[in-house]
Parts: sequence; structure tokens; C-alpha cells
Amino acid sequence: MTGRTCRLCGAELKRTFVDLGRSPLANSFLDATGIASGEITYPLHVYVCEKCLLVQLQEFERPESIFSDYLYFSSYSASWLDHCRRYTEAMIERFNLDERSLVVEIASNDGYLLQYFKKAGVGVLGVEPAANVAKVAHEKGIETDVAFFGADTARRLAAAAKNADLMAANNVLAHVPDLNDFVAGFKILLKRTGTATFEFPHLQALIAERQFDTIYHEHFSYFSLLVAEKMFERHGLRIYDVEQLPTHGGSLRVFACHADAPYERTSRVDEVLRGEYQAGLDRVETYDRFASSVVEVKMDLLAFLIEARRNGKTVAGYGAPAKGNTLLNYCGVGPELLSYTVDVSPHKQGRYLPGVQIPIKAPEHIFATRPDFLLILPWNLKDEIMQQMARIRDWGGKFVVAIPFLRVLD
Ligand SMILES: [Zn+2]
Repeated sequence: MTGRTCRLCGAELKRTFVDLGRSPLANSFLDATGIASGEITYPLHVYVCEKCLLVQLQEFERPESIFSDYLYFSSYSASWLDHCRRYTEAMIERFNLDERSLVVEIASNDGYLLQYFKKAGVGVLGVEPAANVAKVAHEKGIETDVAFFGADTARRLAAAAKNADLMAANNVLAHVPDLNDFVAGFKILLKRTGTATFEFPHLQALIAERQFDTIYHEHFSYFSLLVAEKMFERHGLRIYDVEQLPTHGGSLRVFACHADAPYERTSRVDEVLRGEYQAGLDRVETYDRFASSVVEVKMDLLAFLIEARRNGKTVAGYGAPAKGNTLLNYCGVGPELLSYTVDVSPHKQGRYLPGVQIPIKAPEHIFATRPDFLLILPWNLKDEIMQQMARIRDWGGKFVVAIPFLRVLD
């Protein structure tokens, strides 16, 4: 026995999906003192369960220490808020939600989503483990329960008559260490005819688009619809609809209800499942091929950076997202190949990327130093960034992305 077990079915984990070596926690940006002292690194070794096919990382840091006083607030980009607003409108119409209804959001952050339901007169309750973030929600008038969600929290809320007509869990499944306890909570808190929606990055897109940089220690699990469906079934819930979303490089939004609730399963569920079968996600051998496509990304990026340096060209980065830290640490790219990166967040400027210790500057630094190439780390925002930074073309500067494969964009 290896001592590693699947967080969903308990089987022994023996099969590697990809081994990205050791890396510090992706959001542990360093200041000058941090640079001078040592950094703690953890293995970034992803397994696929041979029994239930859940792709997963072992947990090395207690979620409490990652999330309890989390600096991360949901991005307030106009496009994200628009996504939330459209979700709200669609759910109110589809489920006839009104002032007698209750919407419960899990990992509700500062209430960025629930505010739209509240504005429409629908009852809301947030559940959020980070006390400092929940406080911001309270100040906005969004009732928020400070807790990690699971069966215990669900029982406590149900006892307080907080049963939900709609439960929303967006981009939270990946962060959950005990999946069975988490899903059991939905079974407990959902009303008989209630619906729970879950949004998560689609594993099929991660594999097809070689998005290995979305793997980091805070993301414990990576889902196909196939695996999600089995997970809900274990807990008396059933997926009856699914939507494909462009967010995070390709996400799914699944709709789940009690197994015996009167919702008809849509043909969209079978369409997505068919796509997964065609991609071979039901066969464990398919997962073996991913690791070699990741090595290709590494070789191409290193070859590009080395050649640029040999030719006397300069390369700077754009953005300091968690995914950039996975990419650069795995590829072993330090300041000798990527002299600095820039980020719009003042909290990150003046700090250094963890592990590779590349300095983070303000975006203006690009115009002062005029690099020949700008490597865009948050590739999911590529179009937006190319527009914002179009002026680099004035000195012949070019944009570069490394994922899904290295491209110089003219
Ligand atoms: Zn398993």
C-alpha cells in the first residue's frame, strides 16, 4: 500500500496523471524578507484513481490554513460580474424564485453573486469559511454563515429552517478535501424540489488544451461529468442538466436534484457524456498520455526563452496568476530567462513569484523597458490583455503564450 487513497471512493492511488515536481503554494508571493529565507515546497503530483477515475492531488496543507484568512477576493472584472448577473436572471426565471425562496451559496465570498438575488427580492444566505471575507458580505447586507460547508453545517442550517430552493457552488468543488461530506451536505439542505448548481473547470478541456498550469495545491480535484455524476449518485442526488461555459478555459455548470425529484434529464447531459466517451475519459489508459504533452510545453517554452536570450532579445511576463507560478516553477524559468512580470494588483507589485523568485512590477514598467516579447501568463484573458497592451507593437514587441502550445501572436 502506498498510503494514498482516493478522496471519493477510498481506493489506493497508484497511477500518475502528471508529476509536476515540487512547488511552493501558488499564492504565497514573497517580499524581500521571504526572498532571503527558505521556502516550503510540496509535491505537485497528480494521480488518477483507477477505480472511479477521479483526478486528484493529495492534500499537504490544511484547508483552514489556505482558506481561513484568504486574501483572494473574487475578481470584479466586468465580464465576471456580468456572468453572475445572467446566472441570477436565468435561475429566477427557470425556478420561479421570489421573496419566499431561499438561495444558499457555498463559498459565497463577499456576496458578489448573492447581491443580484437580493436586489431581485429573493432570500439569500451565504456560507463562507474566511471570516474576513464574510465580514465584507455582512457589511453589504448579505447574511453569511462563517463555516466550512459539509454535512454538519447543513444539519445545523436545516435545523434553523434554512432549507434551500437553490444552492450554488461555483468553482468550489476543486477546493474540497472531503468530497463525500461536502456533497452529503447538499442532500441534507436542499428542499424536495430544490436544485443545486455546480460550476467547475472541465477535465476534458484541461487535457485537450494542455492546461496543466491550472493544477496547484489549492485544487485537490479535477472533474469530468462522468465522475461528477457518479459522485452525486452516491449521495442520492442526480444530474439532470448541464451547460458548457467558456470560463476558466472551458467549464461545466451542472444542475443536480434529489434522485426522486420531478426533473427530466435533458439531452445535453448525454451529449457531454458522449463527448467524454469519445475523448476516452472512461478509460484509465487515456490519462497516461497527458504527462508527455506537458513535457512538450516545457521543452517548447524553454527553447523559446533560451533562443531569445541567445539572440539578445528580452522577454517579460504579463500577470502573476496562480497558474503562472505552476508553469514557471515546473519549467524552471527564473529571472535569467524572464527578467520580470507585471500585475495590475497593487498587492502583488513589489513582491516576487514564489519559487522562481521573479520580481513583480507595475504594468507601466513594460513601457519603460520595452521588452521584445511579452509572455501572457493568464492565457484565459489573452484577448483582453492584448488589447490593453497593444502599444508594445510601437517598438515591435510581440505577445507570446505557452498554453496549449507555444505561439508568438502577431
Ligand atoms: Zn476513486
